Parts: sequence; structure tokens; C-alpha cells
Amino acid sequence: MRVLIAGGGIGGLAAALACSTSGNDVQLFERSPEFTEVGAGIQLGPNAVKLLHGWGLADALKSVAAFPDCLQVRSALTGNVLGRLSLGASAVKRYGYPYATVHRADLHGLLLGALKPYPQTTLRRNLGVDSFVQNAAGVSVQLGGELGDQPGDQSGGGQPVRGDLLVGADGLWSRVRRQLLNDGEPQATGHLAYRALVRESSLPQALRSTQITVWLGPKLHVVKYPVCGGEWLNVVGITEGCMDGSLDDWNHAANAAALRAALTGMCAPLQNLVHAIDTWGLWGLCHRAPMRGPQQQAQGRVALLGDAAHPMLPYLAQGAGMALEDAAELGRCLTTNAQVPAQLQRYASARWQRNARVQARAIRNGQIFHATGLLRWGRDQSMKWLGQRVLDMPWLYRGACWQNGRA
Ligand code: FAD
Repeated sequence: MRVLIAGGGIGGLAAALACSTSGNDVQLFERSPEFTEVGAGIQLGPNAVKLLHGWGLADALKSVAAFPDCLQVRSALTGNVLGRLSLGASAVKRYGYPYATVHRADLHGLLLGALKPYPQTTLRRNLGVDSFVQNAAGVSVQLGGELGDQPGDQSGGGQPVRGDLLVGADGLWSRVRRQLLNDGEPQATGHLAYRALVRESSLPQALRSTQITVWLGPKLHVVKYPVCGGEWLNVVGITEGCMDGSLDDWNHAANAAALRAALTGMCAPLQNLVHAIDTWGLWGLCHRAPMRGPQQQAQGRVALLGDAAHPMLPYLAQGAGMALEDAAELGRCLTTNAQVPAQLQRYASARWQRNARVQARAIRNGQIFHATGLLRWGRDQSMKWLGQRVLDMPWLYRGACWQNGRA
């Protein structure tokens, strides 16, 4: 079959890989002039690492990722440890796969490299999917942007491209979703993410880390973890507030000042870390309500995948993980002996509830992370008394049902 994919982010490339490995011809269109990932680090739970291993990327992941042996949760106000979750060998023992932290460009590069052995798969830059038409015979997409720069590439400039199915992996502001579901724009949450990447060796010893640390404060939290084999430290600070101007603000000095001001009164180690870093990118976080049914994941010959289908707050660190799971499930469904709409129906039925659960849990985590008053007291007590049991999530880290051979 000929699979058309809109978007070459982590979700789109994973979909291209999963569909290529299941024997399909893939044409992927990326709107940007380059295949790159902006942003910094990403956490990958054992559920996501398991899929990368399944695609033969275990060694490649090992060469670029870090594998922290612990996640510690601290109070942003006092710095005291509230709870700990052992990872490393302990995660491997519990789930069969480690918990990894990786630079998202490295993950993107791994997926891109894994596509090289598939000559029937073409990746085209500078070509966005503008719209599509689907009928009983197939789907055709209208492309916008410049002509692709690969030899023989004639598909830009208004020529529709035909395929058997279309995968909308075109992210938060998905055009494919807009046409398929016509359900409005994502909602701005008023939460702001400040992201920075700094060489561990450039920091004083006390600020370096081989673990994942999350500081929870009133209406804010900060996460740090190693990436790039431990050479770099990724730091993300999330605050609540309104944002003027662009959703991606690169005024680093203003961002650093705003984050430092938001952390006034927090514990010294946290303030020291944030004061040691001058370059912060700023993102306004948007999301959608949890999915309500399979029709939000696929209809007819068109499927949605990753953030296009279920954009979520990053408070469970699973947006990319769910995109990888979607991709693996899609590849699996395309191997069945059914018509395309039935294959995509099966994909949607298998995915939407898990995606909805993760979206809902991410929203709840945000309320718990940023809690004040009684809720904060309850959170701290339950972490103290139940420890690892509150932080561990077997339903999530074990992977989707079929990954465990249960479906
Ligand atoms: P995107 O990465 O948005 O990719 C979409 C691609 O489609 C882009 O390349 C875009 O240029 C292209 N495109 C757009 N429109 C078109 C079009 N019309 N035609 C063709 N191409 C198009 N997830 C985790 O798993 N773990 C984490 O620790 C984590 N941390 C996060 C921290 C923050 C602060 C944020 C904001 C997110 C975090 N996430 C995390 C979520 C994760 O980054 C996303 O869920 C994931 O990257 C989504 O991938 P995607 O491929 O679906 O979408």
C-alpha cells in the first residue's frame, strides 16, 4: 500500500518506520525546509523504549541517551525530598526496559537513520499537506510550499499526490485534523515552559545531575535531567501566567529574568540552578480535552497520530511516547488482511482510550504538581507514606495491551 504521511516530527518519522517495516510504500511530507526538532530533552518511559528496541534501535539509543537510576521529587520551597522512584536496573526489572532521557534531536536522528534501508520510503522537505480528498478508491493530498529538492521530485506546485491512506502527524496545529474533525483550535492553558540545555561540565559540581529531579512549588515546577549520554543537562521550568507575543519566544535574557522572578522564595539549590543558566527558550503550552472516541483518531482512509490526535500537557512526559505507540499500532494494523478503512478503524479503537487516559492523567498531574493549600499538604503526605507506589505507573510503563501480548 501507499501510505502518505503529513509531518516529519517524532510521530511522523516513527509512523514512516512502522509502516515501512510492515512492507508499505511511504511518502512523507514535511512542511519545514529541514528535518529537525526544536526544543531540548525528552523523557522516554519503558513503554516507549520498548518500541525503539523493537525497531532495532537499542544500541543507537544507548549511544545517545542517558539512563538515570532515580527520579526524585523535591519541594521547591524547602528543597526536601518528597518521594523517590527507582529507575535504572530497577525499571528494567519491573518492566523489561529502562527509563531513558534523550535530546529530542538525537531521537529524531535515530528514527531518520532507521529509515535509510527502505528505498520505497521517500521523505520530502519543504512540502506541507494543505488538504486532502478521500473516497472509496483512495486518498489524494494537495501539497503546498516549494518543489521538493530531490531528483525526480515533481509533486510540489499544485499536483495532488495519491495514496491508499493519509496519516496526519502534523502536530498541535494539524491541518489534517482541522479538515477531518473541524473541532476548533487547541486551547492555550496559560502555562509557560522555559527550556534550557547546558553542558554539565560548565556547571558547579553541586548543580550537575545524573538523576531526574522534579521540584514542586505553588503554581510551578522545575525538572532537570541529563541528556546526550550525560554530557548535557536539560532543565524545564513551568509556571502559570499569561504570555504576551509569540508562542515561541527567543528573547533569552527576558525569559531568564521572568523565570528567576517566578522562583523568588524557592529553595537555594533551585534558585542557584536557574541563575547559572542564561539561555532559556519559552513555549506557551496548549492542549485539547482528552479524546472522546475512536472517530477522533481515524475516519475512513485518514488517521491522526501523535500531537495532531491528542496534544497533551507535558506533566506525564508521554506525548512523544504516545506518538511512538500510535505509530507502532498503525504499522501493526496495516499488516492485517482488511480494507484500509477497517484497518484504520482497528487502529483507532486500539489507541484512543489509552491516549485519552494519558491526556487526562497529564492534566491531573499538573493540578497536583502545582498544588497549593490542603491539596499540597495531601500530596506531600501521600508521597511521604506511599513513596514509590504513588510515583510508579505500571499501567503506563508496561505499554499498551498488545505490547504485552494480551490483545
Ligand atoms: P510535532 O513534533 O509537532 O511534529 C509535527 C511535524 O509536522 C513538524 O515537523 C511540523 O513542521 C510538521 N508539519 C506541520 N504542519 C504540516 C503540514 N501541513 N504538512 C506537513 N508537515 C507539517 N513527550 C515525551 O514523551 N516526553 C517528554 O519528556 C516530553 N516533554 C515535553 C516537554 C515540553 C515542554 C513539551 C512542550 C512537550 C513535551 N513532550 C514530551 C511532548 C512531545 O514533545 C510531543 O508530544 C511530540 O514531540 C509530538 O510529536 P509529533 O510528531 O506528533 O508532533
